[in-house]
Amino acid sequence: MKLNQFVIIGLGRFGSSVGKELMQLGHEVLGIDSNEERVDDMSNILTHAVVADATEEDVLRSLGVRNFDCGVVAIGDDIQNSILTAILLKDLGVKQVVAKALSELHGRVLEKIGVDRVIYPERDMGIRVAHQLVSPNLLDYIELSKDYTIAELTVPKCLSGVSLQELNPRARFGCSIVAINKPQGVIIAPTATDVLSERDVMVIIGTNDQIEDFEETVI
Ligand code: ADP
Repeated sequence: MKLNQFVIIGLGRFGSSVGKELMQLGHEVLGIDSNEERVDDMSNILTHAVVADATEEDVLRSLGVRNFDCGVVAIGDDIQNSILTAILLKDLGVKQVVAKALSELHGRVLEKIGVDRVIYPERDMGIRVAHQLVSPNLLDYIELSKDYTIAELTVPKCLSGVSLQELNPRARFGCSIVAINKPQGVIIAPTATDVLSERDVMVIIGTNDQIEDFEETVI
């Protein structure tokens, strides 16, 4: 994987969690926060952590922020600081700017000023949790469009030993199993003779209705 340099502004719960994970993935992370305590907490975890006010252009310039591949604006409830910081990162030429929004309106402003990706952590996590509550086998999902989804489902006991030919999801429900993750490794584009085992993870692509139908009927 290409090593990237990230600058994270705001080291609260969201920013510090993004930063820690990026470090785990082997990237370089500069953390900036105006709160000294938060910076101290992260100084041994991130590549660099500095106390600074990110709404001051000169400060961002002197930290060389424009050379970073990606800037993450993780400022919590101070919408003004979040917007000012995002504009400065864009103006300084950071290639990709990602910002956390607290509300739809905040998100719309961030989009208007050219933020490349707006994230709504609480809203998105709430939606994910709701999906998982009604579908206990659902591990994760990606909405490809309004209608199409890729879902990761744990294989339940009742499907253990069943081949894809027997399950026949495409003919019965219209959705396709595009991968099976087994302890021995991932089978990409599995064939009719591949057999499911309990606790494998199957990756299914289809419309929301097809996947729902599949889950309700076979799981
Ligand atoms: P979370 O919900 O992720 O925990 P918080 O609101 O607790 O979010 O954290 C946001 C962080 O952003 C705080 O640590 C705060 O000090 C920092 N912050 C806010 N404004 C600025 C700014 N202008 N420059 C640098 N850091 C800032």
